[in-house]
Amino acid sequence: MISRLRRHLGWKLFVSYLVVILVGTVVLASAAEFLVPSAFERHMAAMAVIMGNMAPEMELDLFTNFRNAVNEALALAALAAFLLAIVVSLFVSRRIVAPVREMMVASRRIADGHYDERVGVPGGSNQEELDELAQLAVSFNQMTSKLEQIESTRRELIGNVAHELRTPLATIKGSMEGLIDGVLPPEAPIFQQIYREADRLQRLVSDLQELSRVEAGAFELNLRPLRVRDLVEATVTHLGRQFEEKGVVLEIDLAADLPPVPADEDRIGQVLLNLVGNALQYTPAGGQVRVTACRRGTEVCISVSDNGVGIAAEHLPLIFTRFYRVDKSRARVGGGSGIGLTIARHLVEAQGGRIWAESPGPGQGSTLTFSLPLET
Ligand code: ADP
Repeated sequence: MISRLRRHLGWKLFVSYLVVILVGTVVLASAAEFLVPSAFERHMAAMAVIMGNMAPEMELDLFTNFRNAVNEALALAALAAFLLAIVVSLFVSRRIVAPVREMMVASRRIADGHYDERVGVPGGSNQEELDELAQLAVSFNQMTSKLEQIESTRRELIGNVAHELRTPLATIKGSMEGLIDGVLPPEAPIFQQIYREADRLQRLVSDLQELSRVEAGAFELNLRPLRVRDLVEATVTHLGRQFEEKGVVLEIDLAADLPPVPADEDRIGQVLLNLVGNALQYTPAGGQVRVTACRRGTEVCISVSDNGVGIAAEHLPLIFTRFYRVDKSRARVGGGSGIGLTIARHLVEAQGGRIWAESPGPGQGSTLTFSLPLET
């Protein structure tokens, strides 16, 4: 009985009502016990003035009957209160215990991996009128949808990583089998192909490491005033030869009055390198890439435009999502894993900026722009 009482909130509520009724009844009975005789005597004295004195036996008889009537009324009232306590505790249990129990069952199911579990919100949908219990149910549902989202991202990530690893590994394994069986000649092109795939795997792994670092916010920003011109020149130095080799023209057009921007040189350099590298990758020989920078209100915008393959409107908002590639077969040849822009978005947003893409459509080039606030 005691353990049942300990384990059930409904029983605890019921017993608390009983205790209140018991205390009330005891107080009422004691008060009646003390006050009834003197009150009775006072009223009898008042009656005696009008009707004359009553015989002492009759007065005692009257007093005994009166006291019995009071006790009977008290007993009936206590019984009614007891019955009422049962009704009220059943009602309160339904209002309080049922939602709590529902949350308990739901949390157990969530622990078992059923992340689609939700609980009903007692008291309707009007946010302003929700009591603490209803707010707890709302928070519980918010927590479960967040967990569901995290879980689906995790599954998707594992699926994507497995998918990305499969192709280079299959190529390496196929080539090695060919070499072992003597089907493929042990010549430079085969070794180069194996080397390229191993290199792809290595880049994927370091991209993933970097992605997990930036997504967890596990990096420090060393913000200091930065000249955009220095940043762009460093990128040109880095990629200039590759532009020449591919036959793509790289132009730079920076506004003359650009103020220094507070930014982390390495991180923003990494972003710009990624954008210019992508522009080079997605622009055919004979094409053109332009890096421009200008001040717009309280921020500086740096854009990288190309006249390459372009991006269809429906893909524009998605290219910043991890592993998203517009043209999977082209990216595979080019070696992109679809992580670069996700990392770039995290790095820019960590410095208070924004990054977005524009394109008139496939085959008409694209412009990727990021902004950095002048005040941090
Ligand atoms: P990747 O390593 O595949 O280039 P990113 O995250 O850098 O990954 O880019 C995601 C996708 O966005 C690319 O696969 C490509 O489809 C598209 N993309 C990025 N930059 C450009 C660009 N300048 N022109 C056309 N498509 C682009």
